[in-house]
Amino acid sequence: MTGPVLDETHDPARRSWIESANAPDGDFSIQNLPFGVFSENAGDRRVGVAIGDLILDLTALEAQGRIASGDAPIFDGGCLNPFMARPRGEWTKLRAKLARMLDAGASDRDLPLVAQSAVEMHLPVRIGGFTDFYASREHATNVGSMFRDPQNALLPNWLHIPIGYNGRASTVVVSGTPVTRPLGQLKAPDADAPCVGPSRKLDIEVELGALVGTPTQMGRPIGTAEAQDSIFGYVLLNDWSARDIQVWEYQPLGPFLSKAFATTISPWVVTSAALEPFRRDAPERERPLLPYLREATPNNLDIEITATLAPRGGAPVQILRTNAAGLYYSAAQQLAHHTLSGCRMEAGDLLGSGTISGPTRDSCGSLLELTWNGTEPISVDGGTRTFLEDADTVTLTGMCTGPYRIGFGACSGTILPAPELCEP
Ligand code: MN
Repeated sequence: MTGPVLDETHDPARRSWIESANAPDGDFSIQNLPFGVFSENAGDRRVGVAIGDLILDLTALEAQGRIASGDAPIFDGGCLNPFMARPRGEWTKLRAKLARMLDAGASDRDLPLVAQSAVEMHLPVRIGGFTDFYASREHATNVGSMFRDPQNALLPNWLHIPIGYNGRASTVVVSGTPVTRPLGQLKAPDADAPCVGPSRKLDIEVELGALVGTPTQMGRPIGTAEAQDSIFGYVLLNDWSARDIQVWEYQPLGPFLSKAFATTISPWVVTSAALEPFRRDAPERERPLLPYLREATPNNLDIEITATLAPRGGAPVQILRTNAAGLYYSAAQQLAHHTLSGCRMEAGDLLGSGTISGPTRDSCGSLLELTWNGTEPISVDGGTRTFLEDADTVTLTGMCTGPYRIGFGACSGTILPAPELCEP
């Protein structure tokens, strides 16, 4: 197996002349350089790169002619898609150039920088398609045990195929956007007909989101190596889920409204390049994978993700800690599988990993598992929870720790009460 592709942008000794980027516990070191979209004073949306507690304004740098933009500007459209659709070599070149501009040895320090505290963050990409997978064996086993049969928790196809479904892109929102409790059809197990009302089993799903950069062609499948090279970067993803709506609606076509009302992502796209030193081998395979799913490189990512829950007026309490390294299928395998039938993937398409659960109860990525379907409440500030209550705030944070830290920032949302039921 070939190892990660490292270059001078991964040098752990490298420091920035922006002092806040050198803080040992910060998210945005000079080795990170994640991309996002921001605005100041309700002005135009601009593309930037986070460095310490500042943002380097790429839209301004491009307008000043200080970074190459080819024939037409690529950072003036208020989203990352035009840049993500460029060949991978251009991502690498720009990353190296920005690292040099921000390096402690740089002499030209007259750069367009903005304080992160002074801006509003937006969705970093225009998301054309959102596909959600089911790649954690522990999660699939827990759900199978709870809802089907503990003896045959994992369905027979699971060890062979990255299970996924086409989700809803229109309600993917950036961290900080409130989430309205959904209405839905609900049916108690002993009732003979459903009723309609607010979900009482509102849940989180802690996931990693992969963003496709290089588009693929309709009718042309790609292998795992090309898929790995096509992924521009990653965000934290909370796939809010209404379990009571889900359990009544999901057969035979899978989840629908129970997962279509909101999906929150973190605003900073941490690039595949920044994550190179944190690539890990996939877990051992119980059954051999078909050749098109095999990987010649370690494509799993060692990202520790935690979630906190804060009730209205209460303090945030950590409710789980998990790690993406244990996923059975990598984003590269999911993307390769996605194209197998000829499905075209576009720059900005989002692939959710599926809930990331580990082997212990406190490493499970959903309240469904943490409370074992509401039977074992967990502690929060001033009380307990089975599922989410109105005004609860859930915040995910993600971190790679090694020769240096790569942080993801926060992925946060607060629950608003359900709307009134509509009249006929
Ligand atoms: Mn999900």
